[in-house]
Amino acid sequence: MLLLLVARFGLLECRAENARPPALAPPAPVESSSPRTVAPQPAPVGSSSPLRGSEATVSSSVHVALGTPRDGDPSDEFFIDQRAFVLSYSPEKRVPNWVAWQLDRGHLGHIGRQREFRPDLALPARFYRVKDSDYVRSGYDRGHLCPSADRQDSTQSNARTFLFTNIAPQLHELNSGPWEQLESWTRRRAKRGDVLYVVAGGVFSAPFSTIGNGVAVPVAHFKIIVVLKPGQGARDVNERTEVLAALMPNQRGVGERAWTEYLTSVDAIERASGYDFLSAVPERVQRVIEARTARP
Ligand code: MN
Ligand code: MN
Repeated sequence: MLLLLVARFGLLECRAENARPPALAPPAPVESSSPRTVAPQPAPVGSSSPLRGSEATVSSSVHVALGTPRDGDPSDEFFIDQRAFVLSYSPEKRVPNWVAWQLDRGHLGHIGRQREFRPDLALPARFYRVKDSDYVRSGYDRGHLCPSADRQDSTQSNARTFLFTNIAPQLHELNSGPWEQLESWTRRRAKRGDVLYVVAGGVFSAPFSTIGNGVAVPVAHFKIIVVLKPGQGARDVNERTEVLAALMPNQRGVGERAWTEYLTSVDAIERASGYDFLSAVPERVQRVIEARTARP
């Protein structure tokens, strides 16, 4: 039954995709690009096919309950709702612009790593689909943005963290060092009962350098974490809400320092990345929590 549903919605998606003009830029919101045209909403239980296309594809997801990150140039953004997390993919850079996910105790199961990195078939055929060979002998790890260990509640959710639309080049000393330590901190808070809203992505030089078949290498990776309690949302964020922002250089020597030394403010990440974060939080509160550097 479940397989039938998946197969059926897969077919519907293909039709909708083929009907779309082959433009790089996602269609304007007023066009037939709402999730409704791609697959029925709400999705029936058992169906979790990804949805893709314009910002409307992801904006109602719980993973961006605190606001969909936005920058001044939406032409290089292709949005995918992977259900387990949501993301904006850059067809030009061939890495995600950002990935956002909610994390609570319920996501921390014991199903184990699926291990197999895979090209993301949810990308339209007109986009290059990154694969393993792009990273071979590049000197960079295939760095997860949404970590495998944050999605241990189902094999499908975990497998989606291994799609290359959730991966960016990361030095091993960063991936296995401060970046991993921050991931572990986040999961410890989830285990204690907190509900965390996380967004991670890359900062790029202009022009950006690449590995493999044009996969952009970030000069730094950022992560923003907002710590809430079960049942809380954007309206509950206030001046005392715990917010962590980290900006870690993707450069040699990064692994020699503790993760806490890379803490900064959301404002600094907004300046470095060009994105506005936490836009669903009242402006007055954003001003306070985005200017602060946490000392956990
Ligand atoms: Mn990692
Ligand atoms: Mn903001």
